[in-house]
Amino acid sequence: MLRNNDRFKTRNGKKLILVVEDELINREMLKVILEEDYDILFAEDGLKAQEIIEENKEFLSVILLDLMIPGIDGKHLLTELKSDTSTANIPVIVMTADQKSEVECLDLGAVDFIPKPYPAKPVILARIRRTIELNEDRQIIKVTERDNLTGLYNRDFFLQYCQQHDKLHPEKAMDAMIIDINHFRMINERYGKAYGDEVLISVGEQLRQYINDKGGIVCRRNSDTFLAYCPHLDDYDAFINSISMKLGNDSENTVRLRMGVYPDVDKSVEIERRFDRAKLACDTIRNSFNRKTAVYDKQMYEKEMYEVQLIESFPKAIKEEQFVVYYQPKFNIQGERPVLASAEALVRWTHPELGMISPGDFIPLFETNGLILHLDRYVWTMVARQLRAWKDRYGFTIPVSVNVSRVDMFDPELLESFRQLLNEYELTTSEFLLEITESAYTQDSNQIITKVSELRDMGFKIEMDDFGTGYSSLNMISTLPIDALKIDMRFIKDAFKENKDTRIIEVIIDIADYLKVPVIAEGVETEQQLTSLKEMGCDIVQGYYFSKAIPADEFVKFIEEEIKLRNA
Ligand code: C2E
Ligand code: MG
Ligand code: MG
Repeated sequence: MLRNNDRFKTRNGKKLILVVEDELINREMLKVILEEDYDILFAEDGLKAQEIIEENKEFLSVILLDLMIPGIDGKHLLTELKSDTSTANIPVIVMTADQKSEVECLDLGAVDFIPKPYPAKPVILARIRRTIELNEDRQIIKVTERDNLTGLYNRDFFLQYCQQHDKLHPEKAMDAMIIDINHFRMINERYGKAYGDEVLISVGEQLRQYINDKGGIVCRRNSDTFLAYCPHLDDYDAFINSISMKLGNDSENTVRLRMGVYPDVDKSVEIERRFDRAKLACDTIRNSFNRKTAVYDKQMYEKEMYEVQLIESFPKAIKEEQFVVYYQPKFNIQGERPVLASAEALVRWTHPELGMISPGDFIPLFETNGLILHLDRYVWTMVARQLRAWKDRYGFTIPVSVNVSRVDMFDPELLESFRQLLNEYELTTSEFLLEITESAYTQDSNQIITKVSELRDMGFKIEMDDFGTGYSSLNMISTLPIDALKIDMRFIKDAFKENKDTRIIEVIIDIADYLKVPVIAEGVETEQQLTSLKEMGCDIVQGYYFSKAIPADEFVKFIEEEIKLRNA
């Protein structure tokens, strides 16, 4: 199909053939055989042939070459054609009465033979057609196996080549590597796309040279990520330093590389998984300024196996309700006595083999593979059910906030899920608060801001979680749709160290005042912290000082106490 469209150039709608033949009678015969199907050019000697080829190399589909010609002889011409990259792709069929030169000509790059005297017309036509088809197929493969920008292999072909390599050299120790450009997006934004492209081309070229030299291969996986499969290297820092040096002193400042290696790969591991391992290593130095290389090690292997175990046991865990929701109280501290204001729902996993697992171990993992969508819905349902139960039992409930992962914010069904949940359990948005981490706002700001605004339009109150870790700009903060700021607990910890310094907290409280939203401090553990925060004007406090997160049946003591105090 491809071959019938315009991909392959023709001069007059017919494919172009060059016949290099000194004898008139042979030229006449070939003309009769070919003219119906092809556009034909004739050269009666080597020099003329060179001229014609130079003029028409873009269009030539095949060259029929007589070996015995005046001027430059046929074999010489063939060698010349094949060593010039602009003509090497034109297939050459040799015509000769001398059967002995067949092998030699094949070695020189001829694709086929037409013996003399000529065989019957259909035989000649079939050979030519077949040669052209094969060659065009090869061109298509060539186009698709290369990355347009860098000329390196693309990912799919690269992986196939790796597998082929393993088949041919099963015993050879190989390294799987991934090479990334630090902050490439910034380079693109700051210096423009054309410069970014230049950077990619030169990084690709340097990697290709180095790795090819060592007997390996390189591809561009996507954007600014390169993969290399290479016989085992001893010194990865030397490798990366050498590449960085070659990129030039000037670019050394802007273009900084980072590499992860899975060394001496286990060849029973699927090829793509090997590069995943290299990436795992690479990710450990994502934000490191000093380290350029990281190697996949035993610890990472164990972590990987642990994570596989978690992922595999997830479906059963949901079915058997191994996930349990704990509640941690938040108190309003601005009045005379601390008033129970709400609670945060925090999930725990009581794993039958691994014991109690904290969310820090599985939430980030489930965010990378989408399982978080199921888990969060499960948690929200549990919370809704609990709120309903408290309301039924006490005729009253405090609101509970749930954590909404950034991944949830991309779920088109999110609003509908909440709507159904509130309907089913007859709850309102004033009883169900949402916590969204600040970094979600900064990473995918437009999408998140739109979603958050829709949630607020439904009546939800949004608490911005982990505030101070996401680096929102002041400019951005003032336009964000939020209803409360939750200061990340790291700031509380840092502020109350030996040299007490609460200035950052004061700044955050100022920001909240400016936005006219309350401030929640989490991770409050001591009376001293509580008193200081109260003085600074912090509204709500959550932390071990009051209680850690506890199961619902223990948490009721806070609700009952609150009811008692309110009625007193
Ligand atoms: P987060 O939302 O910022 O939750 C606060 C974390 O701080 C909780 O850890 C809580 O137990 C802990 N914490 C509270 N007070 C103190 C204190 O005084 N001192 C100390 N040292 N820690 C305190 P946890 O429960 O391990 O949760 C960790 C993170 O996991 C949460 O951070 C949240 O981002 C995520 N997470 C927890 N449950 C869920 C969930 O159901 N869905 C989603 N998407 N994420 C969740
Ligand atoms: Mg939270
Ligand atoms: Mg938090």
